[in-house]
Amino acid sequence: MSVKRNSGYSLQTRVAQALSYVEPSTQGLVPPTYPSTTYLRDEDNEYRSGLVYSRADNPTYRVVESVLADIEEGEDALLFASGMAAAVTVFQALRPGDHVLAPKVMYWALRNWLLTLGTDWGLEVELVDMTNTAAVEKAIIAGKTKLVWLETPGNPLWTISDIQAICHLAHSAGAKVAVDSTCATPVLSLPITLGADIVMHSATKYLNGHSDVIAGALIGAKDDAFWQRIRMVRKQGGAVLSPADANQLLRGMRTLELRVRQSSQSAQIIAERLQALPNVIEVLYPGLPSFSGHEVAAKQMQGGFGGMLSVRLQNSAMAIHTAAYTKLWKRATSLGGVESLIEHRASIEGIDSPVPDDLLRLSVGIEDADELFADLQQAMASANNAKN
Ligand SMILES: *Cc1c(COP(=O)(O)O)cnc(C)c1O
Repeated sequence: MSVKRNSGYSLQTRVAQALSYVEPSTQGLVPPTYPSTTYLRDEDNEYRSGLVYSRADNPTYRVVESVLADIEEGEDALLFASGMAAAVTVFQALRPGDHVLAPKVMYWALRNWLLTLGTDWGLEVELVDMTNTAAVEKAIIAGKTKLVWLETPGNPLWTISDIQAICHLAHSAGAKVAVDSTCATPVLSLPITLGADIVMHSATKYLNGHSDVIAGALIGAKDDAFWQRIRMVRKQGGAVLSPADANQLLRGMRTLELRVRQSSQSAQIIAERLQALPNVIEVLYPGLPSFSGHEVAAKQMQGGFGGMLSVRLQNSAMAIHTAAYTKLWKRATSLGGVESLIEHRASIEGIDSPVPDDLLRLSVGIEDADELFADLQQAMASANNAKN
């Protein structure tokens, strides 16, 4: 592929130009979508192109994977059909009986998978308070714990785990560390530089950024035996992305830095202003100095604290009514798109959820921050009036 890795340019430049991609036969600046599922074998029975069948590999994925590996500072990357497919692949590369640690506060669908199908698969899953490094140290069993899964900031309370300290503990006990970095994005945090072995993204969110592609990605720090097993799980299981979606994802990724910077700046402003509103009990955002994970977040995130925050109101009815009265904020699940979303999270997570029912999760998009705040303010006022 005519992409240049390790160029030394900033992430902003590398991602905007897709690593200076030029299509070799036409000099086009945008990679074509290669729809072919199969490739011609050479007359002497070889496959010199290195491509055989698109469940294993496809040139469209390779361009996107090269960009992802480069910006996350890993050796290799793989695209998947969804964020869940990417995450589950890491666990399926483990073996029955392996002990894995996962956070108490994490993306709910993956927690559900771990406690149902992951457990059926034979994994010994233990949920740990990953904000407490001493608790993680206690939970790791040397030789038996094979993987520590982190998600930081952790959905939807935005809990922060100390990636560097936990990697150190895990590695000295022979365990790997994987980080769901969907909400941090490579713009703000680079887990591999802090010691992580694997980075996972729901590319559906910030990487694509336009709420029009479901996709996932894994980035491997090293092309080692575990990474080879992950590659085998994708190839055999077939949870690959369509080449057209891969190309659309690359188009979205070109503006990643601009979008994340804007969302992050606006989220900081909105979080600070929300704290002053009468019906607000608590604002959960790593960028607030009062937030319990703020210091660790400041150490391992650069240039902002992300576009996600949550707000707790007086009670569940107030939260649901506030969401109902918003005009700009869209009442929808998901996150990381250009349009701002608001969600009463307990309603989607169901009865086993650790999320308080007075909580609204906000995904801050790239609209005007003053307009977004004013809309929340009027929605809260309307919800409050409706109560009386
Ligand atoms: C959305 C999300 C996922 C799952 O990704 P899909 O693309 O929806 O499968 C995993 N982790 C986090 C933090 C997410 O926000």
